[in-house]
Amino acid sequence: MSQQPGNSGATEEYDVVVIGAGVSGMYALHHLRQMGLSVRVYDGATDVGGTWWYNRYPGARVDGPGSPFYCYTFSDELMQEWDWEETQSEQSAVLEYLEHVADRFDLRRDIQFATWVKDARYDEAAQRWTVETDTGVRASARHLICAVGALSTTNMPDIPGIHDFAGECYHTGSWPHEPVSFEGKRVAVIGTGSSGIQAIPEIAKEAAHVTVLQRTPQFAFPAGNRALTPEDLADARENWEAIREKMYANMGGFPHDGSKGSALDDTPEERRALYESLWQRGGFHFFLDLYSDIAISEEANASLADFVRDKIREIVHDPETARKLLPDHYVICKRPILEDGYFEAYNRDNVTLVDLREDPIERFTPNSVITQSGEHPIDMLVLATGFDAISGTMLRLNPKGRGGVSLGERWQDRFHNYLGMTVAGFPNLFMIHGPGSPGVFYNMPLGAERQMDWIGHCIQHLQDRGMGAVEPTTDSEDAWANEVSAIAGATLFPKTDSWWTGANIPGKPRYFSAYLGGDIYYQRISDIAKDYAGFVFEPVQDADEANAS
Ligand SMILES: Cc1cc2nc3c(=O)[nH]c(=O)nc-3n(C[C@H](O)[C@H](O)[C@H](O)COP(=O)(O)OP(=O)(O)OC[C@H]3O[C@@H](n4cnc5c(N)ncnc54)[C@H](O)[C@@H]3O)c2cc1C
Repeated sequence: MSQQPGNSGATEEYDVVVIGAGVSGMYALHHLRQMGLSVRVYDGATDVGGTWWYNRYPGARVDGPGSPFYCYTFSDELMQEWDWEETQSEQSAVLEYLEHVADRFDLRRDIQFATWVKDARYDEAAQRWTVETDTGVRASARHLICAVGALSTTNMPDIPGIHDFAGECYHTGSWPHEPVSFEGKRVAVIGTGSSGIQAIPEIAKEAAHVTVLQRTPQFAFPAGNRALTPEDLADARENWEAIREKMYANMGGFPHDGSKGSALDDTPEERRALYESLWQRGGFHFFLDLYSDIAISEEANASLADFVRDKIREIVHDPETARKLLPDHYVICKRPILEDGYFEAYNRDNVTLVDLREDPIERFTPNSVITQSGEHPIDMLVLATGFDAISGTMLRLNPKGRGGVSLGERWQDRFHNYLGMTVAGFPNLFMIHGPGSPGVFYNMPLGAERQMDWIGHCIQHLQDRGMGAVEPTTDSEDAWANEVSAIAGATLFPKTDSWWTGANIPGKPRYFSAYLGGDIYYQRISDIAKDYAGFVFEPVQDADEANAS
């Protein structure tokens, strides 16, 4: 294996460089070490955790199926020893878990924190990647694994005068580490996606006034958060093997048996009864125990959308505010949102809703936001405006592949990839949770493990055969794109504007890029790994000879 000099100034040599020390990069490091490879991880953050290191806003919690199943599955001991406290663990609890994982597997010694990778270039002669960081490190590795996050590049809104605003201004996705006080302050929040809907009720409890600047009304479902009992934890531990099997077999990587049949086979009364029972129970069960055609049939979708709109009208006292909160897109075709007191917050005297579709922002001043209807004086601005999701952080890294061609050039019209992990012209580069993979449509720690296991297998295959480089063909990329589109095309997802379709970022290719097949994806990539169909392997080149010629 390669040497690891680690001396500053000289180029450091590794088998693998991993970018990112969130859930994915941490597992990548552990797995690659188990393979006996030398690995260096870089992260711009000052410690492990990625998403859970950055998103410290009030109300930030797991908003998937929840604990204890938002976790790693690779270590039985880890599962047995960790005590989760709530079903929807708060940010600090997930971060604590990840810090424990870093300690337990001694990960930090191979991670360089507070270090941004500002350049990554493929050297065709050496068949290696060279990365350069903002701290002056230069490192070379055979393989580059980009665990850069599907939700890690914040989306900053471009609104006239926003930079003139002189008060405190925070983005939920890069929240300060010091406590933020809302006491006595007039706070404006832009954005009512998952983060805004988690944060607004918490901010409203403390602030003098909250003005919610809503661009799109949302369907949101009760989070149903509750304390995990000793029985819950004992049950999860005793049945862990069976639960893990279930997670592997489930479409979204969750320990669930799957959904009911078609909504259209039930009467309207039966449908309402199911929706009501799920609403009362709360949590991600709403989506997991739901009819299987809610995101496929317009009629099925409308039945659930009507139910939620009725709930909003019931909860929100002021009919005019309730009207503004009624969403009109296909339900669950934007990221399903779990809420805890969001709609109730509008019954407070200190919360005002501004519907930007009727009353758009004209500009910010140093101490206010001016909408068409008038001026709203504010002391603080909270940007809950989400992320340049899925592809944004890869494009920010913008690696340069064969012939110096950048990813930005290759991804101008769409995010060309094969299996959501590799890109033609970028040999030995692998993405975790990239476009073309299930990514954000899957229990993400489990998805990271399964993709990383595949990548490890591919690296091993390359080494065993004495090969120096592997990359997909453009034909296999095109076939994969067709497969991804065909699956998505059978649903209502591509017909709905969302960050899944790039609609929140001006100029971004507008299409649905995630592989919606869930567990089928893992079957597909495992089948492909039998002979690596669609990939080209290149023998190890003698770098000296190649340089001389
Ligand atoms: C509030 C919130 C709640 C969520 N809840 C759930 C949930 O319930 N279930 C679920 O499955 N998912 C959830 N997610 C998605 C979450 O992002 C993933 O579950 C998971 O944490 C992603 O891990 P990751 O390691 O792939 O990426 P990240 O955690 O985003 O880590 C990427 C890391 O890469 C680093 N990085 C990027 N580019 C560079 C560079 N050029 N140089 C150096 N470092 C770089 C970043 O600093 C970051 O630390 C949630 C996300 C948010 C924001």
